[in-house]
Amino acid sequence: MKKSRVFFIRADGAESPDLFGRKVKDVLVPTGFVEKLAPEDFVALKIHFGEKGNTGHIKSAWLRGLAAEIFRRAPRAFLTDSNTLYTGPRSNSVEHIRLAWSHGFTPDVLGLPIVIADGLSGGDYGETRGGRGRVASAKIAGAIARSDALLGLAHVTGHVQTGIGGAIKNLGMGCASRAGKLDQHAVVHPRIQKKSCRDCGLCLDHCPAAAIVRNPDGVEIDGARCTGCGECLVTCKYGAVKIRWDEDSLRIQEKVAEYALLVARRFPNKIAFINFLIRVTKDCDCMARTQPPLIGDIGLLASVDPVAVDRASADLVLRRAGGTDVFRKGYDIDWSRQFSYAEKIGLGSNRYDLVELK
Ligand code: SF4
Ligand code: SF4
Repeated sequence: MKKSRVFFIRADGAESPDLFGRKVKDVLVPTGFVEKLAPEDFVALKIHFGEKGNTGHIKSAWLRGLAAEIFRRAPRAFLTDSNTLYTGPRSNSVEHIRLAWSHGFTPDVLGLPIVIADGLSGGDYGETRGGRGRVASAKIAGAIARSDALLGLAHVTGHVQTGIGGAIKNLGMGCASRAGKLDQHAVVHPRIQKKSCRDCGLCLDHCPAAAIVRNPDGVEIDGARCTGCGECLVTCKYGAVKIRWDEDSLRIQEKVAEYALLVARRFPNKIAFINFLIRVTKDCDCMARTQPPLIGDIGLLASVDPVAVDRASADLVLRRAGGTDVFRKGYDIDWSRQFSYAEKIGLGSNRYDLVELK
């Protein structure tokens, strides 16, 4: 496998936002991403705005210069994320945007609007077929699927299900609609927990596949009819609809990689990734709390290859930790599977040249 180039700038989250922001802009330049943009392009800047109460997420002030530069070339650029699978302040677009505003991602700071990519409540997606065995097709959040260019902005952290989350996770899971997330997270359709169900009937009215039925034993999901859209998960106000989480991390990592491949294929020449190795924590930014960092800040990496940028990120973290796998100290997960599988299916390369920029 050919080596990919990964660009690297040392940076520290304690630096002034102006200095840090210049580095964010500079690290992307050699990828050629901005030059390829055309004025009529819809450019999706895919980011995680951070859960309510989370403080480790990428800061809006760091993106000011980058957003201005992209806007100059492509005024249709926008910030985006997709709604969550579970209920909470990021499970619908209205609350999701308000939360992003409260974390500083406002038009007066960045000059870019926010478009939550899978619509009001996660049901808008475009479907791409051609998976590699784990998924038949990818249900990609609509606004991302219909964009012309994609810039993945990922805060690299540990992760409870995949061991590590970076560019690949941001691409595969992060760009999926609710149905796509359910595809990757679950083995089968959701189930209704009898003891929590109040028999209110709301989910029956909302299920687009008429897969929820009322029978003498209570309300149930007919697995043969369920399309896995995930609508019932956020419709039920009593938390009675449960996801049957896939507990096999290796399988989830492979599904995420396949999704990432199907998303990346929509942007054959206009895609790039910036990884933030700043405040690397045990868990991802879905955690509603401040987490202590596992290591000191390292910097920023950019590439057009999501596998190479993640592999380089992991190598730098382990080196900074003196060879200790700090991700495995958090969760005993073989996170390297997502990298090896992603390379096997053609998403990118685990071999890279690290080019340090001064
Ligand atoms: S919405 Fe929830 S509580 Fe109401 S019937 Fe469906 S599962 Fe039961
Ligand atoms: S996941 Fe969608 S199709 Fe399946 S039961 Fe829930 S609402 Fe119906």
